[in-house]
Formats: sequence, structure tokens, C-alpha cells
Amino acid sequence: MNEKRTGVPDGETCIICGVCKPEGIHLYTSFVCTACEAEIVATEPDAPKYDYFVKKLRSVKAPPLYS
Ligand SMILES: [Zn+2]
Repeated sequence: MNEKRTGVPDGETCIICGVCKPEGIHLYTSFVCTACEAEIVATEPDAPKYDYFVKKLRSVKAPPLYS
């Protein structure tokens, strides 16, 4: 018995939570799921968690350069 697998969302791996989600936004070449995006927006800049997000996002915005 083979079930037809149609409509299965592929999704992408979120850089924040590391979970494969079908919906989210793209930051440069990386992906942030809608849940994490909402959490980042709702996080105060002086909250400890904000620093964690910034570090994750910084790795996206500043890819390693080889000289
Ligand atoms: Zn996420």
C-alpha cells in the first residue's frame, strides 16, 4: 500500500530554531520561519534573547570572507 504523498510541504530549515518549516521569510540566502520572525520582532533589544537572535542573524549578514 503506497500512499500518495501530495501536498507535503518541503519547507526549509530555519536558522534560528533549526526546524524545517514550510513558511517563513528569507534573509539573504538563509531562512527564518514565521514563528521565529514573530519572536524576534516581539523581543526587546535589551532582552538576553535578543542577543542570541542577533548572533544568529549576524552570521547570515556577514558571511566569512576568505582573503
Ligand atoms: Zn524558526
